[in-house]
Amino acid sequence: MIMSNSKIWLSSPHMGGNEQQFVQEAFDTNWVAPLGPNVAGFEEDLEQFLGESVHIAALSSGTAAIHLGLILLGVTAGDEVICQSFTFSASANPILYQGATPVFVDSEPDTWNICPKALEEAITSRIAKGKKPKVIIGVHLYGMPFKVDEITAVAEKYGIPLLEDSAEALGSTYQGKPCGTFGALAALSFNGNKIITTSGGGALVAHTKQEKEKAVFLATQARDNAPHYQHSSIGYNYRLSNICAGIGRGQMEVLDNHIALRRGMHDFYVDLFKDVEGVTVFNEPTADYHSNHWLSAITVDPLQTGGKTREHLRLALEAGNIESRPLWKPMHLQPIFEKYPYYGGNVSAQLFEDGLCLPSGSNLTDAERQRIATVIETFFEK
Ligand SMILES: *Cc1c(COP(=O)(O)O)cnc(C)c1O
Repeated sequence: MIMSNSKIWLSSPHMGGNEQQFVQEAFDTNWVAPLGPNVAGFEEDLEQFLGESVHIAALSSGTAAIHLGLILLGVTAGDEVICQSFTFSASANPILYQGATPVFVDSEPDTWNICPKALEEAITSRIAKGKKPKVIIGVHLYGMPFKVDEITAVAEKYGIPLLEDSAEALGSTYQGKPCGTFGALAALSFNGNKIITTSGGGALVAHTKQEKEKAVFLATQARDNAPHYQHSSIGYNYRLSNICAGIGRGQMEVLDNHIALRRGMHDFYVDLFKDVEGVTVFNEPTADYHSNHWLSAITVDPLQTGGKTREHLRLALEAGNIESRPLWKPMHLQPIFEKYPYYGGNVSAQLFEDGLCLPSGSNLTDAERQRIATVIETFFEK
């Protein structure tokens, strides 16, 4: 038998089966528009999934959700917004869309997310400099909830609203409560590489009907109530299309299954690396945390592996036509963001140095897992 050597991706779309039926319905009824029954149905599915009586506005991307979240929380030009440094640039870019200034904060080593101590230091320092930050953006990276109790306590102490970037954490929980329901507002993403996809899409999670309506208003060009086109605020074209929402409705039917399969990939790596000295699989710090394990990640300590680094491993996987990727490069080290204030130490910088994301898709086959295991076992001479 010839072994297939087709590319193994980090995270690729995984269709459940009924997506095309919802898309076909949209064609049959001519709802080929950024509104329609699939948009409403997808929003209801997400509201049911998250519970906590949330109100969902389906949008064209997670980035759009973060942008509208900042607008709803009152961020305007000249404001300062605190943002977790260790993240994807889409968490921070919308701060600049608003003409505001990002203030970056380091991570702590348990969840790899925003550090409560560095966060408080940043807030008190900015207040001392004369400006109280307007919003705090915390991220549940790779599906791991941030330290919800500590972070919300700091946010409440200083009366600063929390915007949760839950783009990677649909289905993750902290103390049994879903990520995306802790902040004043939250953003979800359904990009092609996320745990479910609409090919491209996102959503804003709100806690009142009014907030949702405001988001939808801004996302549909901020059209005032008049027979002609009348505008009294800046609008955006950020609504999700009814076609994409149809894919989302099909994906919602298999979300629980995708979470179980992603968590299964994590267990696969825990088992694979259990005897490899110097490799640590990123894991929930306590039973309070339940990650969807969107991406499985490891850190490699070359002092304990006889000099083997995560980059050596990445190249070995690449030679086997297997995609892996270094962890997010922190925003405070990015050319576009390095001139902005930063608070913390080198936790996120070190994670970037030592960390690697491994293929984590819910659609990986036993044969693909075997290929991954063979490369890794050979590399570490297990
Ligand atoms: C994917 C992602 C986003 C952006 O979502 P899009 O739908 O791609 O715009 C924002 N933040 C994080 C942490 C993400 O992973």
